[in-house]
Amino acid sequence: MADLMKGKRGLVMGVANERSIAWGIAKALADEGAELAFSYQGDAFGKRLAPLAASVGSEVMVDVDVTDDASLDACFATLKDKWGTMDFLIHAIAFSDKNELTGRFINTSRENFKNSMCISCYSFIDVAGRAAELMPNGGSLITLTYGGSNRVTPNYNVMGVAKAALESATRYLANDLGPQQIRVNAISPGPMKTLAGAAIGGARATFRHTEANAPLRTNATLEAIGGTAVYLCSDYGACTSGEIIHVDSGYHVLGMPQQENL
Ligand code: NAD
Repeated sequence: MADLMKGKRGLVMGVANERSIAWGIAKALADEGAELAFSYQGDAFGKRLAPLAASVGSEVMVDVDVTDDASLDACFATLKDKWGTMDFLIHAIAFSDKNELTGRFINTSRENFKNSMCISCYSFIDVAGRAAELMPNGGSLITLTYGGSNRVTPNYNVMGVAKAALESATRYLANDLGPQQIRVNAISPGPMKTLAGAAIGGARATFRHTEANAPLRTNATLEAIGGTAVYLCSDYGACTSGEIIHVDSGYHVLGMPQQENL
């Protein structure tokens, strides 16, 4: 490894276990010399995170529910106290009621719409503002999105709408924070076998379909997503902001399935 992240510190939000996209990103950043803090949601996830965080030498773990201002206040106060400043933040958080991640989008309830938008989109705006206060020398903010934001994907439903809002928020944040040399980008992986991914109706079929039809005939890997995050957080990403970078083996360029699968 080339120590691309040496001297840089950042917060990784959203590691639930070793299959989490956030973990793939954390590992890649740590392999390149980054110093990491982690946030986790509740004690059960904290127990799973502890050995992973220790394996990359992290000494900072904070319990954060992004719907709870007090936990966010405490998280960023801890970072300010420990580090003073930070260089990057990874937001790999999304949630929707599983019952509405199947069937027809038209059945979306007001309550779940609000909750999905709040956790999956607003939280990025919230943490971006908090992180920016600790980035006097500029920095890099990354969120995670999915192609169901702009192409109808069965069962993805309200999460597609939340991801469309998140991608738009990425562009608005990039513009607001650009003068402070803070870059804001989203990575859009193909389907991954994670806890959140498994909550979406027909997840296995989506996984198989993407693998069979993507130009590269593979699904994305945690390593490839992690490498993209390293690029965006390192100095090589210095002039990239407001971007949605696909790490989906090219699936997003398709207009229809491959001939061999028709
Ligand atoms: P995951 O289940 O490993 O991670 C989701 C994380 O969100 C968990 O750590 C969970 O604790 C956290 N979270 C949910 N509600 C929260 C709250 N209120 N407060 C704090 N944390 C909360 O799944 P993942 O697939 O690694 O998801 C990470 C991101 O990647 C999500 O934004 C997801 O939409 C996105 N993504 C996933 C896929 C996929 O197929 N799995 C594809 C593209 C994008």
